[in-house]
Amino acid sequence: MTTSSKSIEQWVRPNIRRLQPYSSARNEFSGEASVWLDANESPFNTPYNRYPDPLQWAVKQRLARQRGVTPQQIFLGVGSDEAIDLLYRIFCTPGRHNALSIAPTYGMYRVCADINDVAYREVPLNADFSLPVEALLAAADADSRLLFVCSPNNPTGNAFPEEEIERLLTGFEGIVVVDEAYIDFSSRPSWLGRLAEFPNLVVLQTLSKAWGSAGVRLGMAFAAPAIIDYFNRVKYPYNISAPVQRYALDMLDRADEVSRWVADTLAVRDRFVGRLAELPLVQRVYPSDANFVLVRVDEATAVYRWLLDEGIVVRNRSSVRLCDDCLRITIGTADEMNLLFQALSRYPKRMSL
Ligand code: PMP
Repeated sequence: MTTSSKSIEQWVRPNIRRLQPYSSARNEFSGEASVWLDANESPFNTPYNRYPDPLQWAVKQRLARQRGVTPQQIFLGVGSDEAIDLLYRIFCTPGRHNALSIAPTYGMYRVCADINDVAYREVPLNADFSLPVEALLAAADADSRLLFVCSPNNPTGNAFPEEEIERLLTGFEGIVVVDEAYIDFSSRPSWLGRLAEFPNLVVLQTLSKAWGSAGVRLGMAFAAPAIIDYFNRVKYPYNISAPVQRYALDMLDRADEVSRWVADTLAVRDRFVGRLAELPLVQRVYPSDANFVLVRVDEATAVYRWLLDEGIVVRNRSSVRLCDDCLRITIGTADEMNLLFQALSRYPKRMSL
């Protein structure tokens, strides 16, 4: 049985269900005109003088064609981080409702829970980083509203099997958020293809990773129109600036180039992973479906500091649950990975901390 759209309404915070959203000048009139005197804008400094389209229809139409969804199934945010925060604000009453996630995973799910005063329940991954499906379902109660599954997961790098995520979608009485920030690097299919089947599914994607545009800040949430409607009511009226909307339209036309970047990154990753086995300090390289690898080494913090001295920054994840002595290494260019490899090869056998 899948969740009905009626129960989606029931999970929305009562104040948000009742919300009379702000109606901007550009909401009320969005057609073509020759004289614009409705938004107290300056007539000077074209085109930056005008407010952008609050619902970014041109970008959504382009994106919808590319991803095989409808524009009404898309929310655009200032990074996918904005979508994460809005999910709490739409579905969780502070001090009452709770959210579930796996651990370790992306840190913003917890930070946004804390900001919104929402209890956050972490369920550890199994020791092989597989999904603890039944433990996640068992951790839910009548006040659970959100369940975050990052796939491929950050920082472990693995993607989870479709059947397991499906079990969460059908078994969890709330919103299941599948964060696909790294999906372009994965051999597993995106959940976008099955969006229409699950009224409680929200898929997050971003231009920050494979699309090479982290500096631009554009993230996406895909969901049933009933959920996207709430995103649109709660977001800031003009959250995506006009230059970013123009940039996104250009970038979405460069899908072939992006595919080549992804293929390059995966080839560099696989070569780098192959060479890591030569290094005595490397204990284990975890399989990756992403543009990073999690590597267990002898004395991760010492190795991390050694690399910093060499001018190379990786992410020290050794204080994270299940990740002791692990470094998370982003895949850069072949030259950058060579520099890293050479620095690791020079790492002294024993270094005092
Ligand atoms: N989800 C995951 C799993 C991430 O790793 C990140 C960024 N590191 C984000 C979301 C946030 O991405 P954005 O730049 O779109 O806010």
